[in-house]
Amino acid sequence: MRRKTRQIHVGSLAIGGGAPIAVQSMTTTYTRDVESTVAQILRLEDVGCEIVRVAVPEEEDALAISEIKKRIHIPLVADIHYKHSLALESIRQGVDCVRLNPGNLINGRQSLDEVVRACKEHGTAVRIGVNSGSIDALDQRGQMERVQVRLRDDGTLERSDPLEARRKERERLAERMVAKALEYISWCEELDFHEIKVSLKSSNPLTAVEAYSRFSERSDYPLHLGITEAGTIVTGAVKSSVGLGLLLSQGIGDTIRVSLSAEPEEEIPVAYEILRSLELRNRGVTFVSCPSCGRVEIDVVSVANEVEKRLAKVQTPIQVAVMGCVVNGPGESRDADVGLAGGKGRGIIFRKGKAIRTVPEDQFLDAVLKEVASLLPEAEARLVYPEGGIRETAGVHRTRDGGIGTLLSVKV
Ligand code: SF4
Repeated sequence: MRRKTRQIHVGSLAIGGGAPIAVQSMTTTYTRDVESTVAQILRLEDVGCEIVRVAVPEEEDALAISEIKKRIHIPLVADIHYKHSLALESIRQGVDCVRLNPGNLINGRQSLDEVVRACKEHGTAVRIGVNSGSIDALDQRGQMERVQVRLRDDGTLERSDPLEARRKERERLAERMVAKALEYISWCEELDFHEIKVSLKSSNPLTAVEAYSRFSERSDYPLHLGITEAGTIVTGAVKSSVGLGLLLSQGIGDTIRVSLSAEPEEEIPVAYEILRSLELRNRGVTFVSCPSCGRVEIDVVSVANEVEKRLAKVQTPIQVAVMGCVVNGPGESRDADVGLAGGKGRGIIFRKGKAIRTVPEDQFLDAVLKEVASLLPEAEARLVYPEGGIRETAGVHRTRDGGIGTLLSVKV
């Protein structure tokens, strides 16, 4: 059950108040480079990004916002640090939301007041972002806590518990983050401004979970969830899945960002996978594939990876299974909209629970993609499997009987 938050709007997109949990990302281009920034945002839109943030470190970046806005289709957020004049210019340029930490604005509250007045005038939302790193460095100090041993008066030894010390430190830090966020909100409310969402990020998932959980007990402003500086693709995806998953499963969170040290387009599928796993969004492909094992008769790993890659832009909810053998293959494939159950160099294609034909291994990819495409609206089907697409060798793969084989692929 999702926690009830008040609803705000970022551009035309509703956040909170029961609206679908929105998926966000952030560009990595220089915002003043309008061409590159727009191109990256359009790529993000293609894979399902619903809100995008751009960094605004200089006035030139703020001045690029109106041109970027004209050429994209999703709400735009300006990321502001230190200089509130950059927020004011971004707002004048028509940005939909400004993300700032009032604690690091030069002239603090006075600057925030000016920004809030401008937001009221232009209908712009504010994300108040309080990061654990901006509160203080105690988080890092806690990680270096060591076991200490002390001799008690009765002659026994007393050992410190670094895990317990760390937990307490996390709670104190989370509490300070929440107190700061509530204080900044009260500054906005004094100006009768309520179009606010809040983020309480930390690179430590447990600190973030603690902060967001505490905040949601005390306030109904919508929450933007994220584990900041989470790491590279594997590290970041795991940390984000754990942190965001814990919160989302408690009904906390109205919009999410998975931060990865990777191209921003890589963040979006991870975000949707988290939401699909918790049955909070059903956009796109729910993908089931087996890890393969000593029973495998086909190169399930290559086929599964290729199918998933080809379906990355699909938005229609659809379940696809790629399974390596007859042990679990037919069952999983029958439950999917389209399924492949591998056998000895051949595979059975399932569609909506029925086995429809058997194909040789070199046709697996074609067969699965064609069936998926036939269930999609025309525009999406073209993205998956364009008629007349160029076939080329995608790579080599191992099969049990045939040794090294070749997969067909389609250039999109
Ligand atoms: Fe192994 Fe077959 Fe299960 Fe795949 S479906 S993991 S090949 S038993």
